Amino acid sequence: MVVRIVIGLSATALAFAVAGRRLWRISKLVRSGAPAPDRVQDLASRAEAELVEVGGQRKLLRWTVPGVAHAFTFWGFTVLLFTIIEAYGDLFSKTFAIWGFGHNPVLGFLEDFFICAVLVALCVFSVIRIRNAPKRLDRRSRFYGSHTDAAWVTLLLIAMVMVTLLIYRAAQTNTGDFPYTWWAFASHLVGKALHPLGSGVNSVLETVFVILNVCVIVGFLVFVSYSKHLHIFAAPLNVAMSRRPRALGALDKTPDMDMENVTEDTVFGAGLIEHFTWKQMLDFVTCTECGRCQAVCPAWNTGKPLSPKLVIMGLRDNMFSQASRLLARDPEKAEPTETLVPNTIEPDVLWSCVTCGACVEECPVDIEHVDAIVDMRRYEVLMESRFPSEAGLMLRNIENQGDPWGLGQAKRTDWIAALDFEVPVVQDTIPDDVEYLYWVGCAGALDERARKAVQATARMLHRAGVTFAILGQRESCTGDPARRLGNEYLYQEQAKLNVETLKSAGARKIVATCPHCFNRIKNEYPRLGGDFEVIHHAQLLEHLVSTGRLSPGDGYEGTVTYHDPCYLGRHNRVFDQPRSVLDAIPGARQIEMRRCRERSFCCGAGGARMWMEETIGKRINMERTDEALSTGADVVSTACPYCMIMLDDAVRANSKEDEVRVLDLSQLVEESLSPAAAERSGSQPA
Ligand code: SF4
Ligand code: SF4
Repeated sequence: MVVRIVIGLSATALAFAVAGRRLWRISKLVRSGAPAPDRVQDLASRAEAELVEVGGQRKLLRWTVPGVAHAFTFWGFTVLLFTIIEAYGDLFSKTFAIWGFGHNPVLGFLEDFFICAVLVALCVFSVIRIRNAPKRLDRRSRFYGSHTDAAWVTLLLIAMVMVTLLIYRAAQTNTGDFPYTWWAFASHLVGKALHPLGSGVNSVLETVFVILNVCVIVGFLVFVSYSKHLHIFAAPLNVAMSRRPRALGALDKTPDMDMENVTEDTVFGAGLIEHFTWKQMLDFVTCTECGRCQAVCPAWNTGKPLSPKLVIMGLRDNMFSQASRLLARDPEKAEPTETLVPNTIEPDVLWSCVTCGACVEECPVDIEHVDAIVDMRRYEVLMESRFPSEAGLMLRNIENQGDPWGLGQAKRTDWIAALDFEVPVVQDTIPDDVEYLYWVGCAGALDERARKAVQATARMLHRAGVTFAILGQRESCTGDPARRLGNEYLYQEQAKLNVETLKSAGARKIVATCPHCFNRIKNEYPRLGGDFEVIHHAQLLEHLVSTGRLSPGDGYEGTVTYHDPCYLGRHNRVFDQPRSVLDAIPGARQIEMRRCRERSFCCGAGGARMWMEETIGKRINMERTDEALSTGADVVSTACPYCMIMLDDAVRANSKEDEVRVLDLSQLVEESLSPAAAERSGSQPA
């Protein structure tokens, strides 16, 4: 007994010292980041995230086979915490049982069930890894660039935990020390196999394997603290501290851009690792290198150098390489070194992001890639004046003309000339009898194709008896492309101007056609003092259809595939309403693309990419349009002017414009009502 206690406790003390030192150093590194005070508020929603994301393994279970295997391993480890208590108790007393319920047969059953489940899960993981091994160097594999060798050590250590546990429990069934009845089926089964060895040998096995079990567990603790499997400890924390309800929609930070508050120490964005917050640093150490983000990234999937996984791994490596500087007590040793871009993150990596949010959506440990990327862009734009030159024209156009194309405010009302009813243009304040302010957006007002969608929407609202007015020349770019590019200053100038205009016009309810405008006004303007009720036209159409104020007709007959715009779908969770509108059109038969809803694939225009050259790899709009065309649908429908332009360009590039049309939802509703009206609106080929 003394031997058991001495070996077990010595190994534990040694492991705690080694792992504890490492974990303390990592926690100091993380805490050296900038403050993130909002990450410790709203405890109820954080507890819910812990239950759903960690306890329920929500995101992992989307990847069916590996997800189920991971879930069983996680749940197994949770239940098997009881066996760790029992193992330590057994060091002191062979007949130890957890006080109060340590003989409960249900606990015995659960422990044995999860020992078996974890062993099966380990076999599944091994098969997945063996099958993926040859593909590891293929960039289509989600493990491309991951450190996969350590995963084998982890699998081996977990297997050893389970096997040593099972053998010592089995031996206990023969020595009379086991606290459970036959409900602990696996222990009794293996015990039967060991029974012929006699009670003396079983007693030795019990002692040896309980010591081995404790040693493997604490050895695993040390290994985890030095490997990417640190996520076992970091992930529950990271999920609890994640942005609630999701790290999508608004960007996390709204820096103070008041130039009167700027000093020579002011830094905008993240140029050095310490410019990130402690939560972002926690993100970096939490990454499991699973590659789920990489597998869904449109930039990576079209041959560009951006992989969200490799970005996070690069930032983590930078953080560890800078540890002695970050933790230096001597300020002279804490002098900054090289900037993150281009030394850790290549410019082509940084500027390839379309801010679609697919990586954030997919990450099982709630890492917030988009915010980190935009933080680095902010530093590049605002501190270094380094960004793709073609984007400079877009910024100048917004600054000087109020729209990214530089067409000027005078053209903003041209689209209403094609309507056969009057649209009030708000000169002073919105009249009392007008329900909505229609936020048309730059593309909707100025781009020929997007205008048709705006006109169709206006006609559908008018037909349903919805009263609306527009700001006309008082409307200006919401600042979306400037903000996603990293020019926070220009964004805030535009945002303040628009908030002022909206307030002075007395706007309360706003309907927007562009998901980027919708997201900006709904989610980002409140931080600059603009609180309005904002709805997207897809939501309003759905409301009108479902309440019978607008009844689609039978003028359209054919198949439709709906493309979810990132900023309407993933960023704002509007997935069902557009599909309900299409469902309400009697002749429209919907076909889903493989990548749809939460897993929709970007059109390539977000993140200000619309105004940058796309010279590396396949064009993202071509990739998405290939997928849409492969459904064989007659119409590719969407609810975003950017998506419409990008998809329509790609359909034309494929010479398919005579066979497949790209239409906004509102155009399709209009066509169902009257093909003649649709022809007038341009949704029908002439
Ligand atoms: S936001 Fe989209 S493009 Fe950017 S890294 Fe994530 S998945 Fe890739
Ligand atoms: S960032 Fe998230 S999804 Fe991407 S590799 Fe790391 S853990 Fe996996």
